[in-house]
Amino acid sequence: MKKEFWFIVGSQDLYGEEVLKTVASRAQEMASRLSDTLPYPLVYKVTAMNSQQITDVVKEANHDDSCFGVITWCHTFSPSKMWINGFVALQKPYCHLATQYNREIPNDEIDMDFMNLNQAAHGDREHGFITSRLRMPQKIIEGFWQDEEVQRKIARWMRVCIGVRASQSMRVMRFGDNMREVAVTEGDKVEVQIKLGWQVNTWATGDLVKAMNAVTEAEVDRQFAEYQEKYDIATDDIEAIRYQAREEIAMKRMMDANGCRAFSNTFQDLYGMDQLPGLASQNLMSKGYGYGGEGDWKVSAMTSIMKAMGKDENGASAFMEDYTYHLVKGQEYSLGAHMLEVCPSLAAGKPRIETHPLGIGMNRKDPARLVFEGKAGKAIVASLIDMGGRLRLVVQDIEAVKPIMKMPNLPVARVMWKAMPDLATGLECWLLTGGAHHTVLSYDVDAQMLKDWARIMDIEFVHISKDSTPDSIERELAVNDLLWKLK
Ligand code: MN
Repeated sequence: MKKEFWFIVGSQDLYGEEVLKTVASRAQEMASRLSDTLPYPLVYKVTAMNSQQITDVVKEANHDDSCFGVITWCHTFSPSKMWINGFVALQKPYCHLATQYNREIPNDEIDMDFMNLNQAAHGDREHGFITSRLRMPQKIIEGFWQDEEVQRKIARWMRVCIGVRASQSMRVMRFGDNMREVAVTEGDKVEVQIKLGWQVNTWATGDLVKAMNAVTEAEVDRQFAEYQEKYDIATDDIEAIRYQAREEIAMKRMMDANGCRAFSNTFQDLYGMDQLPGLASQNLMSKGYGYGGEGDWKVSAMTSIMKAMGKDENGASAFMEDYTYHLVKGQEYSLGAHMLEVCPSLAAGKPRIETHPLGIGMNRKDPARLVFEGKAGKAIVASLIDMGGRLRLVVQDIEAVKPIMKMPNLPVARVMWKAMPDLATGLECWLLTGGAHHTVLSYDVDAQMLKDWARIMDIEFVHISKDSTPDSIERELAVNDLLWKLK
């Protein structure tokens, strides 16, 4: 599907034809030059002079699936009562670009004609008032449009809008229920559909086994060849790898047939299956499918959405679990991994396929899985939880490091990181928010992007950064409790 963003420029009819022509041609020029720097085209639509034109272009934007969001800009003054009917009807993500065509005030040239043509400072304020008055989810990007920082912000906001659409069209395939007795992976499937658009439904494990049995040996051969090309095979148990191939093909077939982009399963319900999908789930994640272990459909959908928000719509974002700490003074790190299923998009090098016994759960054959170290770099972990009556998205900044030890007997992929502001304070903040042990770890999506996403979806957002303290988080949560009761 074509993906584009619309550029709508505010003006009014008092300026006369000459000025309006100049505004339109500059807007066209800006949209086209900006598009060269952005991941998606910015298409100039109209220089709007009255309420009808604004309402018309909004209706068109709402109706057109290729429009993923609208960006407005006021070259001149544009009285905002003209915008009310359009904004009230607007169903697409919205961004106010507070910029102007010229960078400098031209000392010699400036006169009242120049002032009338170039009054973004004036127009911005009227525009800001009405979006504030309407309590719209506001996104403001400010600065000179040719500056790299401004372009970077627009690009990231566009990726947020890709995440909004991914959410609105999200379908999750659940194989089996949530792990028995676990609280934080539960949630209100009706609420997530109302707020986020997700369709979360269950399919029988027996149906998956049927689909696995229908996979041909030739199909398994092809899948095996793909594994051979992408990964190093470090096991003699070829049958275990072929079994994972069969699982992957069957799960992908069922998901694609039902329009699902994410799935969950649980080691407590593998009826009729010899291996918990490991390599199978990991390779599906590398293709953009979301996954959540132990029936965690919330983290599964978030993984897929955050992948879609990343580079080439399949960024370095992955299902992750906090496992254990290294509490040596000056080397305080968290070690994250999962029973099997960590996405190879996090890998620092070429992943190895290994087989090992499953340490927990039913008596199954040794599942094949990808083993690797996560790469170093700035990242975030994000967790969506159900607070009863509202959804809360918790995001923490982290710094991933090359694992400081080899851990030769650890049979799974691993990522090591330093939580912000430090392990102890960051932990206290995280526990205060109620964030889960399951997260999406991302090198590609940052906290600002998820804040923008949460604002558009109208859910609570809490950010643990280098500046957070338990006191500041506690106060923020208390205020949020009150605000969300009023909503
Ligand atoms: Mn888990």
